[in-house]
Formats: sequence, C-alpha cells, structure tokens
Amino acid sequence: MKAYVFNEHGDYNTIKLGEAPKPAPADDQILVKATYGGLNYIDSYFRKGIYPWTFPAIAGVEGSGVVEAVGSKVTNFAPGDRVICIGSGMFAEYFVAPASRSVKLPENIKEEIALAGYLQGMTALTLSEEAHKVLPGQYVLVHAVAGGVGLLLTQICKARGAIVIGTTSTPEKAEIAKAVGADHIIFYKTEDIVKRVMEITNGYGVDVSFDSVGKDTVDITMDSLAKFGSFVSYGNTTGPVPPFTINRLAPKNNHLCRPQLYAYVSTPERLEKYSSELFEMISSGTLKITIFKIYDFEDYRQAAEALETGKTSGKVLLKMES
Ligand code: NDP
Repeated sequence: MKAYVFNEHGDYNTIKLGEAPKPAPADDQILVKATYGGLNYIDSYFRKGIYPWTFPAIAGVEGSGVVEAVGSKVTNFAPGDRVICIGSGMFAEYFVAPASRSVKLPENIKEEIALAGYLQGMTALTLSEEAHKVLPGQYVLVHAVAGGVGLLLTQICKARGAIVIGTTSTPEKAEIAKAVGADHIIFYKTEDIVKRVMEITNGYGVDVSFDSVGKDTVDITMDSLAKFGSFVSYGNTTGPVPPFTINRLAPKNNHLCRPQLYAYVSTPERLEKYSSELFEMISSGTLKITIFKIYDFEDYRQAAEALETGKTSGKVLLKMES
C-alpha cells in the first residue's frame, strides 16, 4: 500500500510517499481503509526526534475511514463501520488503530468536519476542564489563537463565559479568531504581550495561559499570570520548554501543568465522555470547525510545510482516496 514511511528523522522536506505492507489488526485493533488524515503539530515532533519514534515509522496520529476487519478481542466495531481514530501510522491507504482509541463517526456530522474537530477539539475540551477549569469571568490567554487548537479553545472558553485574549501573527488570522469569539488580539511580532495583557486586564493578569508555543513564551506566560493563575504548557511549537525551576511559581502562587491529551482519554469511559461532548457541541453549532484546506494525499509534504511554517489557521486535512 502507499504510505508516508520514515527511516530517519528530518524536517518536512524529507517527506516522501513510499510503500509499506498492508497491516493486519492485532487482537485489540481494527483495520481501517483510510478516507481522511488529520495533521497535527505532533507529527513534526516525531519526525524531528523531539518525541521518540521507532523506525520504520509511518506518519499520522489521526484518521478516519471504514473498518475492514477487527481483531479477535474487539466487540464494539464491525466491518463497514465508519470510524475516527487516534493512534499512529495513519497517513497510509490502510491503518490499524487500537479499538480503545477509536469512535464511530456520528451520523449527523460530515466526516471531514468531525475529523477536523476531533483530536484538537478533545485537547481543547480536556485542557479547559481538567488542566485548568475555566470559569465565567476569567481572563484566558490563548497563544496561537488562530491555530487548530487555538480556535477551538477560544470557542470553548467563550462558551464557559471567559474573556479570551489571543496572540497571533497577522491581521488575517486575527479576523479568523475574532470571528469565533476572541475578545482581544495581541500581535506578538510587533506588540509586547505582557504589557498588552496588563492593559487589557487593568493590571490583574490572566487566570490561565494556554501555552502551546513552548520555548519562546515561557517568560511571557509567567509574567502574564495573575496571582493563583495557571500555566498550562501543552506544546513545543518553537521547541521544548527548557528546564524550569519550581520556585518560579512561588511569588504569585501559580500552578503549572504539562498535560497530554492521551492520558485524559486513556479509558473507554473518558474517550466516550469527551468525544460525545465534542460531537454534541459541533452538531448543536456551539463549536464551529474551521478547515484551512484539504490536501490530496500526494501533497502531504506541502501540507506539513504550511502547518509548520505558520501559514495555516484551523485544521489541515489529507484526503486519502479520490
Ligand atoms: P497550530 O494550527 O496552532 O499551528 C501552530 C501555530 O503556532 C502557527 O499557525 C503559528 O500561529 C504559531 N506559531 C508561533 N510561533 C511559531 C513558529 N516559530 N513556527 C511556526 N508556528 C508558530 O497547530 P495545532 O493546533 O496542531 O497545535 C498547536 C499546539 O498544540 C502544538 O504545539 C501542538 O503540539 C499542541 N498540541 C498539544 C496536544 C497535547 O495533548 N498536549 C494535543 C494537540 C496539540 P501564528 O501565525 O498565529 O503565530
């Protein structure tokens, strides 16, 4: 089958379509004929070696498609089911995924919309519920507000009654973020984020900073926090956060959390809770899903380049079959 196989680390220029054997499902897995793949920033962390990867490796942690076969211990899926899965090796004509990390595609949501909101939407839901429970009236700083996670986090925080301050690079992206409810935009390339946060909040600071930028924004996040505010560090877009001394949290009694989605949805009950909450928010119109572009399967390199050079806003998808 055609697949994006890797035998060494590299940047998006190393992406090449190759061949791999069609996989067979293990006892607890399902075999899926792929229709769409969802790009996520984490794809670049595996490719660059920021997170461990075992070679040969196939890219892609999120995909949708039709179940072709199920492992001997799988009871909740059958051939023909349309599914959305989180796992690995999904940028290929076929992939296997753990049944425990797969859900049936809701009948009332288009496949590409459901997939476009899936991993990033559950990230936004779990971060705003468990990493820091966002409450009405709280000031929330969303870095990369016009990104895939950023736009969803903005809408969820607004639905909870918070005031969202977002950072972005361009006026075009600012408009996209404002259209989904961001209250204040800071252009981080030309404006001083901390100064603007203090102006907007009358010197109070933010109750939480959802920081996916990583290395470049640690000090900015710390200086923007209000007393008792939370630093939710959930990404490495500019590189991993350097060693951080715990005493930095003391002057304002701040909280630090470094969450990953996978633990939040690591049991069937948790996956069911967050996926059904997400699909309900999409089908009721509470959550608008922004798809930046659906690229052809053959154009994954261009899609990854657009995401990793900050050209995109919202979700980037691959269409696996024509
Ligand atoms: P985005 O769509 O947010 O893309 C990244 C954005 O970051 C860019 O569009 C850009 O927006 C901004 N950015 C800031 N600095 C840079 C830079 N130096 N180079 C490139 N982009 C930059 O991606 P995702 O929504 O897929 O992911 C967002 C973050 O969330 C990632 O760090 C990802 O790893 C993390 N994440 C973490 C999860 C978890 O479980 N912990 C789960 C899912 C995602 P702008 O032009 O506005 O600056």
